[in-house]
Amino acid sequence: MADKSPSNIAGMTLSELSVLAENLDLPKFTARQLADWVYKKRCSDINSMTNISAAGRQKLLQHCSSGLKRPIKTSISADGTKKYLFEVGEGQFVESVFIPDKDRSTLCISSQVGCRMGCRFCATGRMGFARNLSAGEILNQVLSIDESPELDNIVYMGMGEPLDNTAEVIKSIEILCSDYGLAMSPKRITVSTVGRPEGLKALLEGCKCHVAVSIHAANSELRAELVPSERTGRIADIMAMLKQYDWTHQRRISFEYTMLQGVNDSAICATELSKMVKSLPCRVNLIPYHKAEGFSYLPSSAETIEKFKSILEKNKITTTIRRSRGQDIDAACGMLSTKHKQTK
Ligand code: SF4
Repeated sequence: MADKSPSNIAGMTLSELSVLAENLDLPKFTARQLADWVYKKRCSDINSMTNISAAGRQKLLQHCSSGLKRPIKTSISADGTKKYLFEVGEGQFVESVFIPDKDRSTLCISSQVGCRMGCRFCATGRMGFARNLSAGEILNQVLSIDESPELDNIVYMGMGEPLDNTAEVIKSIEILCSDYGLAMSPKRITVSTVGRPEGLKALLEGCKCHVAVSIHAANSELRAELVPSERTGRIADIMAMLKQYDWTHQRRISFEYTMLQGVNDSAICATELSKMVKSLPCRVNLIPYHKAEGFSYLPSSAETIEKFKSILEKNKITTTIRRSRGQDIDAACGMLSTKHKQTK
């Protein structure tokens, strides 16, 4: 094997692990053993992979590392939510958020360092874009926290636009759902997107996971003010694409709508949203806005959110109001921004 920077086992598919084993003259079955140690046993130390021969481990140590790295900081909210900070090299960081609930344990993961979508109300958007995460860096967030074995729900709703990093996101989902990987059901995975047409098509064709479209306004002009990507991927076109897929079996589509006082929370906005989504069997999630430092937007009142919800429900649209979690540790929706980097 050519001498180059070590490759990480986390993030490799079974066929890539087979190529690795072959290149190092290791038995074929080493590929499955490596997948088992990293994806099932969450083992970060190649030396501890005791069913691989000592000589085999030496070769592996020379050419690769597990790719598993513990978070460097944990913040714990009064409501039990935990925010993890991961270092991803070169002074860059990403965050993920563990959200325990009565009946499930959710991890909200990041797909990029920063984000280039620039949504006006989002702290990550304000950071700007640094780089895409690899599939291994995405999976490390799932594999390297204490709660990893109990996770039963993964949402790609942390830092970054997953479909601006489609290939690595799809690869990470493949490993999450494969028998050699974490053997999760795609029904336990949701990818949230502002709706990048090409990436969305690839995701819909390549994975069976749920999709959440961050809509925030049905009116194209207003949406373009809040979500600048509207200018290149219009929500009307995204809706037309979504309608070509079957949402009645297994896969679920939802729409995320951040409620901003006096901006997108009027009865007219609710009616426009109803008209736009009602031809799809979907759910609308109303997200109370969390005011982050330096933003002029204000959260809609609880009463306004209820009124908005009732208009949607009158139009027979299943609507929920997302319970805020982890606000005291800046872990709630739209608040992730790796202040760690900025204050170092
Ligand atoms: Fe990026 Fe999502 Fe924030 Fe928009 S809301 S800037 S897509 S992280």
